[in-house]
Amino acid sequence: MKPSQHELTKSEWENSELFKNTTHLFHHAARKMNLDPNIEERLKWPKRAIVVSVPVRLDDLTIKTFIGYRVQHNMTLGPAKGGIRYHPDVDLSETTALAMLMTFKCSVVGLPLGGAKGGVRCDPTAMSRNELQRLTRRYTSEISNFIGPTKDVPAPDIGTDQQTMAWMMDTYSQEVGFAIPDVVTGKPIEIGGSLGRTDATGRGVVYALMEAAKYLDIALDENINVVVQGFGKVGNSAARKIEKIGCKVVAISDVSGGIYNKKGLNLDALEKYVKDNGTMKGSPDGDFVTNEEILELPCHILVPAAISNQITEKNASRIQCKIIAEGANGPTTFEADQILHDKNVFTIPDIVANAGGVTVSYFEWVQGIQKLFWSEKEVNNRLWNIMSDAFRRVVQTAEELKVDMRTASYITSLRKLSRAMLWRGFFP
Ligand code: NAD
Repeated sequence: MKPSQHELTKSEWENSELFKNTTHLFHHAARKMNLDPNIEERLKWPKRAIVVSVPVRLDDLTIKTFIGYRVQHNMTLGPAKGGIRYHPDVDLSETTALAMLMTFKCSVVGLPLGGAKGGVRCDPTAMSRNELQRLTRRYTSEISNFIGPTKDVPAPDIGTDQQTMAWMMDTYSQEVGFAIPDVVTGKPIEIGGSLGRTDATGRGVVYALMEAAKYLDIALDENINVVVQGFGKVGNSAARKIEKIGCKVVAISDVSGGIYNKKGLNLDALEKYVKDNGTMKGSPDGDFVTNEEILELPCHILVPAAISNQITEKNASRIQCKIIAEGANGPTTFEADQILHDKNVFTIPDIVANAGGVTVSYFEWVQGIQKLFWSEKEVNNRLWNIMSDAFRRVVQTAEELKVDMRTASYITSLRKLSRAMLWRGFFP
């Protein structure tokens, strides 16, 4: 049973499905590439995991204590980087798995950064803006000794946004005594954010899709139907860019379920409906589908962009698309991967497909340190170069070792990371 959001959970790393799945994939890749067993042993566990209690005065003046985490998995390549998640399912084990994915993601796309993840177990949709501000500020204060521009740089994830980052930056800066914008990325432009960061993950998903289509010799035009799970920062921006390149978004969902219309959706109308009604349910734009049904709809491209463990051995055989572009972290289990591979479904794995977010976060960090800001065009061009280069390197590994794209992405990442770890040596 999941602990309630106000309870301390058993501090174990291995509980979650995502942790089991991620470590399984990691060991599988390690075996395929004959990874040095000492490196494998070291990467099994995070470098550091911080658990904090976050007491918050709610609007009714009572105090509730939430549980927060920041896990730094590996910092060989540079400061740790990873999002902050506010969601009722946040726990130590899932946060650790997500931190591990960040290590592999930064390495596979070639960023000089390590991997981290953090979050607070809470339901942000049930909290007021003032409560969220107090939660964010206290959480930041509790982890402030462990973050910083040269140590660990948080960013937005599920349930957090540029406002959350602005509060984090301000709290950290108040403690130090002067402005330190580079402590977080995904900030508003006015306090040192980068142009192009808000939609970078969705844009990166589409850049990866364009490379995949080229590789598979598929024309991306109005005959291509796309299904997107998740209508948040990643799902919404990916869907809009998919339309921009000429494909048709036929279904999209949020936590309440989704809307399907095989003639194509009107995303503006849907966004307005969600804004007015707080949910997609009831939208007249198409037929209602559940979050389980949406994954099995007939389409050419499926973009899971919500939460993990959505495509499993239970539904993988019913997935009908040709390409999966993983906007979400860990949406597909190891068992499902094998089924999809046998069905010739081409997967662009999460650590490649959704790396646009951390890549532009890296750009934001670099621009902040230099105090020299780039145009949006320059940001997008640099993003394109990094995404297409990473995609090609992973395909090359897949062809060279005759492995699936997921294994290839881990191997490409681990090759670079393990060389760096060997150069640095083992301390003491
Ligand atoms: P978000 O909070 O902006 O949106 C999340 C979406 O998922 C919302 O539409 C929400 O309604 C939906 N959702 C929540 N719980 C769900 C459930 N149980 N079933 C179905 N849908 C559910 O978050 P986001 O930033 O768009 O993140 C989405 C995914 O992308 C996450 O897996 C995140 O880790 C990953 N990701 C985000 C970024 C980023 O820059 N934001 C970068 C890389 C990866």
